[in-house]
This record gives sequence, C-alpha cells and structure tokens, in this order.
Amino acid sequence: MDIEFWGVRGTVPVSSPETVKYGGATICASVRAAGGDIIIIDAGTGLRPLGDRLVKERKGPLKLHLLLTHFHLDHIMGFPFFAPLWSQDSELIIYAPVPQADTEAALAGLMGGRYFPLSLSATAAAKSYRAVGKGTFAVGGFRVSACPLHHPQGSVAYKIEDTVRKIVFATDTEHPELGVDIQLRDFCRGADLLVYDATFTPEEYAAGKKGWGHSTWQAGARLAKEAGVKKLLLSHLNPDHSDSRVDMSVSLAKWEFPSVEAVRAGWKRTI
Ligand SMILES: [Zn+2]
Ligand SMILES: [Zn+2]
Repeated sequence: MDIEFWGVRGTVPVSSPETVKYGGATICASVRAAGGDIIIIDAGTGLRPLGDRLVKERKGPLKLHLLLTHFHLDHIMGFPFFAPLWSQDSELIIYAPVPQADTEAALAGLMGGRYFPLSLSATAAAKSYRAVGKGTFAVGGFRVSACPLHHPQGSVAYKIEDTVRKIVFATDTEHPELGVDIQLRDFCRGADLLVYDATFTPEEYAAGKKGWGHSTWQAGARLAKEAGVKKLLLSHLNPDHSDSRVDMSVSLAKWEFPSVEAVRAGWKRTI
C-alpha cells in the first residue's frame, strides 16, 4: 500500500520559516490501492494539494473514498477547495462516524453562502455518504475499521489493512491518566504504522492542557511499545511548535521508542 501525507498540522494551518520542514497544512493523508481506488483520511488544508495532484495525473474517472475522523475545522476545512469535488468525472464516497444525513449536513453547512460562495449541491462530483459503525468494511480492496477516541464531540481512529499490512491513524485523542487506552492498544496491535496525536509536549500537557482531547509524544511512545507497532509517526503537530521543537520531541521519543519520527507533508512510503 502506498501512503502519502499532505498535511500534518493540527488545530490551524500555519506558515512561517520555522515550520517549513514539517509543513503547515492541516491533517490529510492518502492511501492508494492496487486497483486504483484512493482512500483519503481527513480533509484538512492538505486536501487541496492532493486534489490538484489527482486532477493533474488523472487518466480517467476518479473513485475516491474520504474517511473523516470528525468534523473539527482542522479536519474538514480543505473540503470546499478539493478540485475533484468540482469535476463530474469524480465519484466521492464520504465516510464518518455519524449518520449519513449528519455528514451531508455538516459539509453543506461549511459551504452554501455564509462561509463559501457556492453550495455543496452545486458541486459536480457524484457524492454518497456512509455511516461508520463498529464493524469492518471493505474499501478499494482494503479492510477498514474504526475505534472511538477520547476527544471533545468524539473522533475515531481508522485502521486500514490488507492481508499483509496494517496502518492506524489516531490523530485526535487524549491518553488516560494511568497506563494506555486499552481499546486503542488492542485496535492498533501489531500495526506497521501508527500515526498518533503529539499535539503537546508532556510539559505543556501537565501545565494546563489536560481535558483538551489531545496527547503527547510520550503517551504515543508508550502506546506504540505496548501495542507492538513497528513504526510510530508523530502527527497533529502543534501550530506553536517550530521544526526544531518537533525535532526535539522526536529525539526524546527515541529514548522510549526508537522507531519513531515526526511525519511531514510530503512523507510517503510503500509498505
Ligand atoms: Zn484536530
Ligand atoms: Zn478535533
């Protein structure tokens, strides 16, 4: 499976000389199936360059599966600017952990006049909506499942797997006071990649960020170790963290879990 990251910043996009290495666009990643289907995880501002690439490289109709973890702005604000949304040669299937009508209403509310000049109904792509529940579902030759996370208004982690590989995206979650999140640990057991919420440093978290629904590199390292994952990717990077600060977090995390790096926009691998 080919995985590529288009945005790794949490909360709000940033742009400055101090954030060039990891990038300032908010959460978006893509996974390409052998059959040509494309799975997209979240619609942060990283969705825009992904859309531009897809349109540029298209050789025929696009079939795109968009998995939304939740509806906080940093995870959906790229949606209206996604070029394939405006093309009648695109089919867009949108999954979220809420009833289908709620997903459509949330995205329609993001557009439609007050926040955007054109409405969702004016977009040319064929759109359909799927509610994500407890079970596993098939997407483009992969098995996909979701695990509830600890986050205000709720969020989910997604697991995408085939017969050989397994990757987990857990970008917005708060770790428990003691130990690790048992449900999430079991969900990501043995994963090849765990993409994890490293919004705060342990010091920031202890100094007033408890209850904000986010986690730390340290909690990620503990979870990765207990779940036996092969590689930990720190994500949902804090808009206040410079590249050097992120580098420092990675250096510290290596002491607890050596196979760790912070993910950046443009990071891609075939696993
Ligand atoms: Zn977020
Ligand atoms: Zn959130």
